[in-house]
Amino acid sequence: SRTAESSFVGSWIADWAEKVLEQEPALTDLDRRAGDGDFGTNMVAALDQLDISAIRDTYSTATIFDAVSQAYLGHAGGTSGALFGIWFRHFFRVAADSADSELDLGAIAAAARAGLDNITSLGGARVGDKTMVDAIVPAVESLEQSVTAEADRDTALASAADAAAAGAESTETMLANRGRASYVGEAARGVVDPGALLIAWFFASAVGH
Ligand code: ADP
Ligand code: MG
Ligand code: MG
Repeated sequence: SRTAESSFVGSWIADWAEKVLEQEPALTDLDRRAGDGDFGTNMVAALDQLDISAIRDTYSTATIFDAVSQAYLGHAGGTSGALFGIWFRHFFRVAADSADSELDLGAIAAAARAGLDNITSLGGARVGDKTMVDAIVPAVESLEQSVTAEADRDTALASAADAAAAGAESTETMLANRGRASYVGEAARGVVDPGALLIAWFFASAVGH
């Protein structure tokens, strides 16, 4: 039903935003150890713009993704502010193009693919560079396999969440080739990339609604 579909994205994004805000100190610590220490601050600057309880109850999927995208593009500094703004912009576009407030598996896969392509064309990162791309690529590949297999949406999102989490975890042993974490060399080893972690939480928060 319309209500069930709307509450799916509202619950998804509200859960995710609450998780990120709650984990701000841990995210900041990761960027402090391999970066310049502002990642958590950048996330809070964006997500503090949102009325999370209103998002939870919002019926328009496009409105939700528009708000998150604008919050990142307009209020978060840093590389991640621009790249997450672009990521959510593609979810907004796909949602706005949908006939109703539903966001089915095909739409989610298409938005994630478009977001990935835009992020890699702008930032130049590839898998293994220790960035958010290490979580996004396996998630997108998983979603596309689920579309082909005609999996149901929740099963597909659970698989994508597992893939993104494994991708994020894989960044722990990497040296960084992109972004400020590349300035610290060997010191980046042992530190999970916070951008990849945030993407893993994004997919994990989509499961079970
Ligand atoms: P800054 O490095 O400008 O301080 P943030 O701390 O807000 O930006 O964001 C750092 C995050 O951005 C990293 O965790 C990484 O996931 C991501 N990132 C950095 N450079 C790139 C890039 N070229 N492509 C994709 N993601 C990147
Ligand atoms: Mg930083
Ligand atoms: Mg910075």
